[in-house]
Amino acid sequence: MTPESFDVIVAGLGSMGASTCYELSKRGYRVLGLEQQQNTPHEMGAHGGQSRIIRKAYFEHRDYIPLLDKAYEGWHQLEAITGEQVYYPCGLLYYGAAADPIMQGVKQAAHDFKIPLQAVADQKLLSSFVEKEGNEAWLEPAAGYLLPEKAIRLFLIEAAKAAAVLHTGEKIISWKKRGEGIEVLTTKQTYYSKRLVITAGPWAAQLIRELSVPLIVTRQIILWVETDQRQQYQPSHFPCWLIAAEERKGAWYGFPSLDTSICPGPQGLKLALHYPADPTHADIVNRIISEDEIQAIQKAALKYFKPAGNKVLAAKTCLYTNSPDEHFIVDHLPGYAGTVTIACGFSGHGFKFVPVIGRILADLAMDGKTDLPSGFLGLQRFKAS
Ligand SMILES: Cc1cc2nc3c(=O)[nH]c(=O)nc-3n(C[C@H](O)[C@H](O)[C@H](O)COP(=O)(O)OP(=O)(O)OC[C@H]3O[C@@H](n4cnc5c(N)ncnc54)[C@H](O)[C@@H]3O)c2cc1C
Repeated sequence: MTPESFDVIVAGLGSMGASTCYELSKRGYRVLGLEQQQNTPHEMGAHGGQSRIIRKAYFEHRDYIPLLDKAYEGWHQLEAITGEQVYYPCGLLYYGAAADPIMQGVKQAAHDFKIPLQAVADQKLLSSFVEKEGNEAWLEPAAGYLLPEKAIRLFLIEAAKAAAVLHTGEKIISWKKRGEGIEVLTTKQTYYSKRLVITAGPWAAQLIRELSVPLIVTRQIILWVETDQRQQYQPSHFPCWLIAAEERKGAWYGFPSLDTSICPGPQGLKLALHYPADPTHADIVNRIISEDEIQAIQKAALKYFKPAGNKVLAAKTCLYTNSPDEHFIVDHLPGYAGTVTIACGFSGHGFKFVPVIGRILADLAMDGKTDLPSGFLGLQRFKAS
């Protein structure tokens, strides 16, 4: 029997896959999106947990900033076409030692790219953070939070409206080159397409066997802590925050108290450490979080954020997929003459880029190249010089 045929198959309908299906179907291609979970969004991968920070004074690498301009545009466009809000600009407060590389990176990025950043002197606001001699506080007013589950849902609804075929509960078992295109075998049937885009998040290494760089999946824990002063921590009064951690690389970060009727999820102040935690495997993650783990995180967070000492209301796991340099991998897969495009290794900071990654993947998959400045995310950087 001849397999059903598409212009392009998108493997994985999480964060990046949803926006990619939207971009491709909007451009008029016949798209098949395949998702292994029964429902998407879901809590098994990288996008669960109610909220994601979006910010532009990027300390990780200055080349991300032009892409962030496009990402912000993309979020505004999604809101305009759907009439729904996914981006909440409540601001982001950066706190840490003036000389800390994160703080230096934020200030440098703001200076070089003219990103508004204001010194914070509001003592009421600062009273939530553990004071330390030599620390400084900066606010990026246009930063804030995104609703990841809602955004994925909206991208998929728009993709379906533009005639994308979306199958959930259908896992890709394998794929191979066939003729000029790609044959994809799933738990239900075999398909053929001219192009394949792999956006499999924490499962990327299983679907991209030829990938020459290791991807390490880590089990991250997020806590929601109670506050007895809910009014003070409303997004209208209190921003997202990010604190350069002293004793190890990484940053503590958190959110204001979100209205759970708009942002479904646990109540309270969400917080976590942005730093790769224990390595795991996407299919065998221990989702049970012990009391000892909760207490250890709570104790560590309390050194920076005072409300962390209040009661823990909820704890969840979520997965990072870390590339060797903690920068994204977005490129053609070598050896397939441009027919296979991959996006993986988002290393715990990819969500804010979702709309622009969708555009880049659609460009690379169908046009073979992109005008968007994403060359620094290519596999070439891992080649020994
Ligand atoms: C705790 C935590 C906090 C974070 N905070 C932030 C933040 O504040 N700001 C920010 O910008 N980013 C943040 N991130 C990172 C961001 O969420 C991720 O970079 C992003 O979600 C990665 O998207 P993805 O599409 O690669 O993975 P996912 O969203 O997990 O999507 C991958 C999809 O592929 C599917 N799939 C895999 N294999 C198959 C298969 N064989 N067949 C069919 N389907 C398959 C999966 O089921 C899944 O739905 C955070 C991540 C975590 C875990």
